[in-house]
Amino acid sequence: MDYKASERIQDLQYFGEFGGVNPSISDSSTYTFLSAKTMFDTFEGNTEGCYLYSRHSSPSNLYLGEAMAQLEGTESANVFASGMGAISAVILQLCNSGDHIVCSRTIYGGTYAFLKNFLKKFNISTSFVDITNLDVVENSINKNTKMIYCEAISNPLLEVADINALSSLSKKHKLPLVVDNTFSPLSVNAAQLGADIVVHSLTKFINGSSDCVAGAVCASSDFCLALKDVNDGAGMLMGSTLDSLRAASILKNMRTLHIRIKKHSENALYLAQQFEREGLKVAYPGLESHPGHETMKAQMNPEYGFGGLLTLDVGSLDKANALMEQMQQKKLGYLAVSLGFYKTLFSAPGTSTSSEIPMEEQEELGLSQGLIRFSIGLENDIHHTYLIMRECMEQLGILTNDSALV
Ligand SMILES: *Cc1c(COP(=O)(O)O)cnc(C)c1O
Repeated sequence: MDYKASERIQDLQYFGEFGGVNPSISDSSTYTFLSAKTMFDTFEGNTEGCYLYSRHSSPSNLYLGEAMAQLEGTESANVFASGMGAISAVILQLCNSGDHIVCSRTIYGGTYAFLKNFLKKFNISTSFVDITNLDVVENSINKNTKMIYCEAISNPLLEVADINALSSLSKKHKLPLVVDNTFSPLSVNAAQLGADIVVHSLTKFINGSSDCVAGAVCASSDFCLALKDVNDGAGMLMGSTLDSLRAASILKNMRTLHIRIKKHSENALYLAQQFEREGLKVAYPGLESHPGHETMKAQMNPEYGFGGLLTLDVGSLDKANALMEQMQQKKLGYLAVSLGFYKTLFSAPGTSTSSEIPMEEQEELGLSQGLIRFSIGLENDIHHTYLIMRECMEQLGILTNDSALV
């Protein structure tokens, strides 16, 4: 498989208006036309390279879109004001009232709430299924189904979707496969593996500095143009447009994505291995014990590792809360949702990012209340982090002294 995403991003050259090595930021909401005819043609969608109004497109957003298209190897990409802005636009572009969606049952809480609750308004229904069981996925498809939706590595349970296999299935039924690749940029190239549309929350690893929310849709030129059609494009008409200044700052951060992902993965693998050795209940796709390990190995770009996310089940919500508070006091990171920051972030998804999922369903999924999701940071000395984490766990009785192998 051709995994040249970071080279493709690196090869992009943008010349600023005054020859700068950074593209100039287009700080304008509207654009002048030299003739009224050109303005009319632009509304009709007939003029390449003409800007109309910044909700439709702007130079800075197109630059970031180009980098996102290179990341996934798709023809095109549109950027959005948030990951949910991108996801909701894709879904509403593909589905009409009465339609049906087949979706993984372990997905981001916001996406789950959108599909399960919000889409009721439009009489669009969703079957939430075990995405790793292809028979179940296929049997859930009915005559109204309009798409298969999943996350490459799921939030928060880190289930790994077999994108190749799902792509064959979706092709057989002539359905688009939509993959959220927020957890695994560069590590997994979802489009190359057969996803038709790849969505990202840029808020996480891609921006990597936890200073804004943003999203992207990577897909064919036709689909990206359809999203911004002035007459019926969900992106254009729902209006979750990214600001130019933000697009420019995210583009700058993308230049270090390849270095950051390697470090996040290296640190996460180290901690996961240590925790497992101590007999803790750790889940990480890089561990052989992880049910998605083989699938991940078969579809990942080994250079970038198994990603920066791991989960640890410490048995109860009280213990999880106590451990997180203590780790924060010891400056190991922040008790905060989100991921992809330079510092380690931890939260208990059952009562935070997945609280949209009813308790019984959480239990069915294996999302226990003592589960902590870690987004491992860019620590230079991860062994030191590990020693302090283990000290916290000993104090709280999560680990006993005799399991010490240090
Ligand atoms: C955060 C997240 C989203 C939503 O993105 P926002 O930028 O917060 O709107 C979607 N999918 C996954 C997997 C996420 O982690």
